[in-house]
Amino acid sequence: MSNHIEDQLSAYMDNELTETERQQVEEHLDTCLACSALLSDLSGIKTQVFTAYHSIEAPEGFEDKVINAIGFNATPVNVSKGSNWLLFPLISVLCFITIVLVVMGSYLFKFSSIMLKVAYNLIHVFGDILGSHTYIIAGLVGLSIVLIVASSISIKHMLKASGFKGANW
Ligand SMILES: [Zn+2]
Repeated sequence: MSNHIEDQLSAYMDNELTETERQQVEEHLDTCLACSALLSDLSGIKTQVFTAYHSIEAPEGFEDKVINAIGFNATPVNVSKGSNWLLFPLISVLCFITIVLVVMGSYLFKFSSIMLKVAYNLIHVFGDILGSHTYIIAGLVGLSIVLIVASSISIKHMLKASGFKGANW
C-alpha cells in the first residue's frame, strides 16, 4: 500500500465520495495505520469545531439582550467606570459574532468543513517539516479552538457580571 488516501479523508468524513471511492478509502483504512490515525485526528478536530459551533449558538432574543446590554453600559454613569471600557468592545465583538452566526446560518457548517480542510493542509505541511510531530500541530489546532470557546464563555460571564441580569443563557 504505497498510495495513501490523505487527500480523500476530508471528503470521506463529509460523505462527499462516490460509493466506489468510499470503499477504496475504507479498504485502505483497514490496512494503513498512518491514514487511520490521521482520520481520527481529523475527526477530533471536526468534533471540536462542531462543539464550538453549538456552544456559541445564539438563543432566542439574544440580539435584543446584547443591544440592551450595550445601551445599559453606554450610560455615562457606567462608562465612567474603567472596567466598562474593556467590556464595551467585548460586547461589540460578541454582537458581531452573533450577527455573523445569524447571517451565516447554514453556511457555517460548510465553512467549518473548509476550515477543517485548511487545518488539515496546515497539519500536512507542518507534518512534512516536523516529521513525526503531526500530533503536536493537531493538538495546537485543537487547543486554539478550545481557547476560542473558553473566550466566548468568559465573555458570557463578564456580561452576566456586568449587571446583565435575567439572562437565561
Ligand atoms: Zn495510508
